Amino acid sequence: MKLATKIIHAGAEPDPSTGAIMTPIYQTSTYVQEAPGVNKGYEYARSQNPTRKALEDAYAILENAKYGLAFSSGVAATDSVIKLLNPGDEVIAASDMYGGSYRLFTKVWERYNIKFIYVDTTNPANVQAAITANTKLIWVETPTNPLMNITDIEAIAAIAKKAGALLCVDNTFASPYLQNPMDSGADIVMHSATKYLGGHSDVIQGCLMMNDAALREKLYFIQKSCGAVPGPMDCFLVLRGIKTLHVRMKQHCENGAIIAHHLSQHPAVVKVYWPGFEDNAGYAIAKKQMRDFGGMISFELKDDSISAANKVLSSTKIFALAESLGGVESLINHPASMTHASIPREERIKNGLSDGLIRLSVGIEDAGDLVADLNQAIG
Ligand SMILES: *Cc1c(COP(=O)(O)O)cnc(C)c1O
Repeated sequence: MKLATKIIHAGAEPDPSTGAIMTPIYQTSTYVQEAPGVNKGYEYARSQNPTRKALEDAYAILENAKYGLAFSSGVAATDSVIKLLNPGDEVIAASDMYGGSYRLFTKVWERYNIKFIYVDTTNPANVQAAITANTKLIWVETPTNPLMNITDIEAIAAIAKKAGALLCVDNTFASPYLQNPMDSGADIVMHSATKYLGGHSDVIQGCLMMNDAALREKLYFIQKSCGAVPGPMDCFLVLRGIKTLHVRMKQHCENGAIIAHHLSQHPAVVKVYWPGFEDNAGYAIAKKQMRDFGGMISFELKDDSISAANKVLSSTKIFALAESLGGVESLINHPASMTHASIPREERIKNGLSDGLIRLSVGIEDAGDLVADLNQAIG
């Protein structure tokens, strides 16, 4: 079945009690049992909920995985993966990744004696060199937030397999429309469903997809024992969002390409970070593992001062100044002071994230209007 058909029908079964074509919002905390232990597979809603079940089935289908699990946020999904580990275990993580993942790793999990080693994963040799007998997990994000660096999933999966470590790929920026890491050998795919999967900036949610039944059992145990589950209304919103993922992504990609090329020709812009440029370091790998290049773009002005960036950030009229991404409306963001403020400046600069960097989440409005808005803001 082709992607568009899969996306529309993923996880959707007519409701058994009424035939409702849309999975109802089962707003219930518990389920009545016929006799102690005799039930219809639903006991208590932290453990099971039919709306969540429909979404979890959809998640699995979208990533060509056997199993999907939904969490109350992307960060909760990430947290649940780290809970697979024991004190003394080591994680190799990407040096350029979502600031909230970095904060969770360094400020929360390091206190429990989980060790994180940050390397530039765009060169698989760096990952190989960091492997030790204690390496249990490799955490990769591609394209990265906000520099759009591309990591070769297949190459890292081979290293993980040889080392006996799990590979988890944060696939939030690509969405399942552009990239399916399970097909390249990842053990777990993670998404902030808050972004492209939900797609309408109206819900916080995260998910994990996996193939291995034992791994699914462990993560399900963590999901129900630690309790970071999404409510049924939120599951409904993501189920609804997913139905248009392919049409939205097509437009995000089309608008993204127009804006990336426009910015690269703009006299006030020195650098545009977007994997679709042939001279981008990640272009060949992106071509190999992605279906298109997406609508996430970062750029630097010739004037690299914070004040020059601030002028652009506060002058756009269609691009809204806000954290987050992946919604139908265009957003503009200043990583250094917003999404990546939790990363120390020194660390940030070392990883190439400058004070003046501006990130765009290109929405699905008219591309001409978006270009005109950026032109008037850049001046
Ligand atoms: C937003 C985001 C997260 C965290 O997800 P939440 O839903 O905000 O908890 C993780 N990874 C990436 C790449 C993100 O953009």
